[in-house]
Amino acid sequence: MVWTAAFLMIFVLCAGSEDYCYDEPHCDPYAWGDSFPLCHPLLEHHHSPINLDQHMIRNDSLGPLQLEGFDEIQTGHWTLENDGHSVVLQVGSGMEVSGGGLPDVYYTVQLHFHWGGPATNGSEHTVDRRRYPMEMHIVNMKSIHPNMSAALDDPTGLAVLGFLVDVVYADNVHFGHISQKLSSVAYKGQTTKVKPFPLLSLLPKHNMSQYYRYYGSLTTPPCSQAVVWTLFEVPIYISWSQLAQFTSQIFSTKEDAEQVTPLQNNFRHIHPTFSRTVTASRDAKLLTGTAGQPPRLAASVLLLQIVLCGGFTFKL
Ligand SMILES: [Zn+2]
Repeated sequence: MVWTAAFLMIFVLCAGSEDYCYDEPHCDPYAWGDSFPLCHPLLEHHHSPINLDQHMIRNDSLGPLQLEGFDEIQTGHWTLENDGHSVVLQVGSGMEVSGGGLPDVYYTVQLHFHWGGPATNGSEHTVDRRRYPMEMHIVNMKSIHPNMSAALDDPTGLAVLGFLVDVVYADNVHFGHISQKLSSVAYKGQTTKVKPFPLLSLLPKHNMSQYYRYYGSLTTPPCSQAVVWTLFEVPIYISWSQLAQFTSQIFSTKEDAEQVTPLQNNFRHIHPTFSRTVTASRDAKLLTGTAGQPPRLAASVLLLQIVLCGGFTFKL
């Protein structure tokens, strides 16, 4: 009995130590495969993210997706959580995604973000090798599966809707529903309630039929090759200060928060497409990369803004 307890304790400790990070060589994306075998980038494995370029095949059967409940205000409340690697908005039940070439109906589970730093862009997917400032993922689980681990065993178990995020001067009022709450989830384990709002208000709703499609993986451990990716061509626009709230107010741990070491550059590196084809929807314009200014220019624009506005205030 004592031995069983001891073994259990060791198992729990080992499982607990199996964490990942983005900024230290022993646990960064290049080392994930040591603890999470599926993250090994073996030949012909289908990993994400990838670079998007003009080498796509148009598929005229890829029409608009059906986004059930995305234009409604859901009942109850949503939960915003810092999981130590990102900020995750759990959106409860009530929304689902289908059509647009997806093989089934998928229930919307959560959305989360990947970002860079004050002078680096942080989207996961790149367009013509250019990284956008940020990327938002809406994660949807195939409706036939009882839970996430069952979905991860299915090559099309998840449908992730990916949105590139670019930066402009004006605040995005809809995005404010999330960014204004970030100070309440500064470090891992902190959660706060968010009043539901129509998710569609956050999205490029007039361009939702322009997207790219490929089959890939989770971009975080366990890196399961279980994702039907839909990447939208037209970005979401937020303001410089809304982006700065992510890059300056979110910390991986409480210790990082105390030492003011924010969580930054939480994106995985680009993977080869190998034999995969990336298809473009019927309405996709096959835009070339229009990602925000390179960091040096972005920083100088920010500096100009500070000079012109007589100061740059972060809500801490
Ligand atoms: Zn993601």
